[in-house]
Amino acid sequence: MVFLDNAGTTKMFEECAKTYSLYACQEFYNPSAVTRKSAKISMEINEVRSLILKKLGTMEGSVIFTGGATESNNLAIKGATRGGDYEYVFSNGEHPSVLNVAKSLQMQGKTVHFVKLKEDGKIDLEDLESKLNYKTKLISCIFVSNETGAINDIKAISCLRDKLAPNALIHIDAVQGFMKIPFSVEDFKVDMLTFSAHKFHGPKGVGGLYIRKLNYVKNIVDGGGQEYGLRSGTENVPGIMALKTAIEKIDVRKNYENVHGLKHKFNEIILKESEIKILDFQGSPYIESLVFKGVKGETMLHALEEKDVIVGLGSACSSKKAGNRVLEEIGIDKNDIISSCRISFNAYQSLEEIEKAAETIIEVYNDIRKRVS
Ligand code: PMP
Repeated sequence: MVFLDNAGTTKMFEECAKTYSLYACQEFYNPSAVTRKSAKISMEINEVRSLILKKLGTMEGSVIFTGGATESNNLAIKGATRGGDYEYVFSNGEHPSVLNVAKSLQMQGKTVHFVKLKEDGKIDLEDLESKLNYKTKLISCIFVSNETGAINDIKAISCLRDKLAPNALIHIDAVQGFMKIPFSVEDFKVDMLTFSAHKFHGPKGVGGLYIRKLNYVKNIVDGGGQEYGLRSGTENVPGIMALKTAIEKIDVRKNYENVHGLKHKFNEIILKESEIKILDFQGSPYIESLVFKGVKGETMLHALEEKDVIVGLGSACSSKKAGNRVLEEIGIDKNDIISSCRISFNAYQSLEEIEKAAETIIEVYNDIRKRVS
């Protein structure tokens, strides 16, 4: 089977399963208890925080472990938008775990602005500029689009913040960028950042929020006060330790180059079939879309599964809804959207399997076209 839906999730490394098992079955202690064994676990979790800060290119700030990116996005946004006569800015390219929080702020009567995307899939910086002012308290923007792979210029966003909205915090949803694309939070000058382990071969149900200063947010659940009081509940120790194992195994730059090569080869083969269009926004090498002229994306997805090639239909969270909000926003033709599938690679796939998958995609497409014409 060739799995080309790695933006949806990735296969966990075997090594993570071993770590998970060790901390679930042997080193199973509650880090909040006062025994020496618990203190050791608590120290180990803190070491994972330091490792993540290092990978983010900073020594400043903290990491709050959560149950994944949906929760991190909720904590960042709900936690930073309490009270006051403030304004909040979001891009139109956000994942539902940001977009739906923004919409609920709007329903509560808060002033919320949405920023357009340009044809290249990136946030429209001129539109952003027009929406920033002294009242802006938070700007939340996706780093790498889970739909298109377009990469937002976060440095340009923070420059605009410095110039026009000095009271605003910047939060980025870096789920499709962390451990995949080289960057640093120091360089980006962001205040909060969301990540999720299952997007980089770690376990599902664990992620985190990087936060430069803990007082940027208030807790959104009440409880025992774990994670600096910002995320109560006993820590998912096996998940956090398995996340560490995934981070330690990944060489971001090497993987980036590798995936670049895989995508290049894949596209070279796909281009041989002129009725298949590639929607490549020249952003992340990990993500692109294919448009199959005259055939629905969903039909292709199911036919490909029969041939052991798994592709995606936009984000899993939106795949049950018709259309694709982000592709529509950047002006992709409605028929093209219906005929599209999302392709997303991982760095551990071989050139041979990617070549084979591309050939299978062409074969399956031609087969369906013959039958429908
Ligand atoms: N943000 C982005 C950009 C994503 O791609 C996803 C996963 N589809 C999420 C947030 C939600 O992640 P999780 O599954 O960890 O809640």
